[in-house]
Amino acid sequence: MIVVMDLEVGEKELQAVERVLHEYGYSCHLIRGEKRLVIGAVGAKQTEVPPALETMPGVEKVLQVMQPFKLVSREVKPDDTVVEAGTLRVGGGVVSVLAGPCAVESRTQLLDAARAVKAFGATALRGGAFKPRTSPYAFQGLLEEGLVYLQEAREKTGLAVVTEVINPVDVELVAETADVVQIGARNMQNFPLLKEVGQLRKPVLLKRGLSATVEEWLMAAEYIMSEGNYQVILCERGIRTFETYTRNTLDVSAIVLAKQLSHLPVIADPSHAGGHWRLVKPLALASLAAGADGLIVEVHPDPARALCDGKQSLTPEHFAELMVYVEKFLPVLGKKLWHGGVK
Ligand code: PEP
Ligand code: MN
Repeated sequence: MIVVMDLEVGEKELQAVERVLHEYGYSCHLIRGEKRLVIGAVGAKQTEVPPALETMPGVEKVLQVMQPFKLVSREVKPDDTVVEAGTLRVGGGVVSVLAGPCAVESRTQLLDAARAVKAFGATALRGGAFKPRTSPYAFQGLLEEGLVYLQEAREKTGLAVVTEVINPVDVELVAETADVVQIGARNMQNFPLLKEVGQLRKPVLLKRGLSATVEEWLMAAEYIMSEGNYQVILCERGIRTFETYTRNTLDVSAIVLAKQLSHLPVIADPSHAGGHWRLVKPLALASLAAGADGLIVEVHPDPARALCDGKQSLTPEHFAELMVYVEKFLPVLGKKLWHGGVK
């Protein structure tokens, strides 16, 4: 249920409304949009409306949210949410590019990648220190050592750092380094992990699960928001289909749907979708045409020697070429590339 409040409502009136909602077993989430202030009231018994609610001072109207996802829904907040973290800004009519290697492999590899992606226009550095690998014998990441290199890369380049957490017990540790905490496709429905990152007060990048429906993906975002963390970025990274020429199938419709159904910003990952570097540019441009607010792209200084996802990683030169195409394409969409707030 959403309780639409008068924009000018006083603190006392607001608290009185929240008290009544709490008595009825709701948790309250105050959501301030551009033109309205609402209380998102969520909880187990979502049908019982306190009888006098609509007549309370400061209350404009009470609406039921039809979608199963509530705080994530555009019904609750019609205007776009913009997520900001250091140099990164996602949403609000700009396009942001996050880039870097799949995994942090060494100090030199990460710093080389970071300098290159910054030079060509990325505003965040990606790189996993904790890697969720299909095989237990594959490179699992440098763990804490990787976080140290990510910190150094941020200090040297000023780029915001996006890195994955795979275990609820590591959330605090990873969040000390990360400007944006990534939840990978394999963990999209790891509910204890979602609840844990919901406790953070910093942005979370939520990748769509390998075989998750759009609704399941948005419900995963609801888990994070229901814990009070409203800074969620959705990421379409391809889904599993019968096709074998691609690693996954980029679901362009999901980008459109997520933007329609939710106020949260949506980015696309053409690297994991296509699984081959030659597919990255066309899939990136298709994602932007569909309305994506940004891209997350794998870039490696030497893809042939990468310990993870080399086949789909762009060289710095190919990344530079992609950025030229992106910048040329954006005016058609009435959008601009986000340069990190530097005029
Ligand atoms: C990654 O970003 O390197 C990654 C593991 O992606 P996904 O969770 O989408 O497979
Ligand atoms: Mn990868």
